[in-house]
Amino acid sequence: MRRTPPIVLTIAGFDPGSGAGVTADIKTIAAHRCYGVACITAITVQSSQGVRRVRTLEPSLIRQTLTELADDLEIAAVKIGMLGEAEIVRAVAAFLKQRNLRKIVLDPVLRSSSGARLLDQAGQKRLIEDLLPLATVVTPNLDEAAVLTGLRVTNRKDMPGAAARLHALGAKAVVITGGHLSTATDFLSVRQQGRIEQETFSSRRLRSSCTHGTGCAFSTALACHLARGRSLRKAVRLAKSYLSGAVRSAYAVGKGVGPVNHLYRANWDVR
Ligand code: PLP
Repeated sequence: MRRTPPIVLTIAGFDPGSGAGVTADIKTIAAHRCYGVACITAITVQSSQGVRRVRTLEPSLIRQTLTELADDLEIAAVKIGMLGEAEIVRAVAAFLKQRNLRKIVLDPVLRSSSGARLLDQAGQKRLIEDLLPLATVVTPNLDEAAVLTGLRVTNRKDMPGAAARLHALGAKAVVITGGHLSTATDFLSVRQQGRIEQETFSSRRLRSSCTHGTGCAFSTALACHLARGRSLRKAVRLAKSYLSGAVRSAYAVGKGVGPVNHLYRANWDVR
């Protein structure tokens, strides 16, 4: 029998257009030659034109799914995306603690780019208190960093302060993503034995109408690289490079903001 690749678990919402959420994550995981398993937290009604409706699933269903998966297979890394509400945050945090899972990427999904709320206010508080300290790394974009810290976070200069505040809230490592800044900038900050080490990853900004789900793709790629045993620094560099390729090779899907091309490395011909 062949060797089993690292198994990566995504805990996230369902986007029927597969630009974001679990189905997009499974594509990203496959693109990294890992095996993807998923726990759906919420069903959304959305298309490339925006999120219309959100329905979270029963927390007991999520608890049971996570237990069923963890009893059956060895999870190398976990990516956490949209959680919807406080009880689901609580269920996920309890699961991670109970199973002592170690490589955890927390994408603190709060709102869609179209403005729909993807985590309620109580859930936001639970995420900070229960999940932030458990995560190996948390990957907010500028808006999410601003909401979580209560600080103004709009450019490269604001990133170190926001990261320091996230460390103070319990985060071990932070990547603040700023893909839409004039120079695309991701900012990594790691707290180790009381010291904070920071590094900026910059690249040319890509102008594209296909940016739906970029946060999901970045955080999932990061989880895959951690699952493969790469250091956080290297994982950030590789995830950023994957995302650039996926944006650069995107094709139009739908009338609005299209998805990135998660599987661009598969190099399928479109005829
Ligand atoms: N829908 C789901 C299920 C998501 O997880 C996310 C983001 O993580 C979105 C929608 C929003 O994606 P975007 O803001 O890139 O459009």
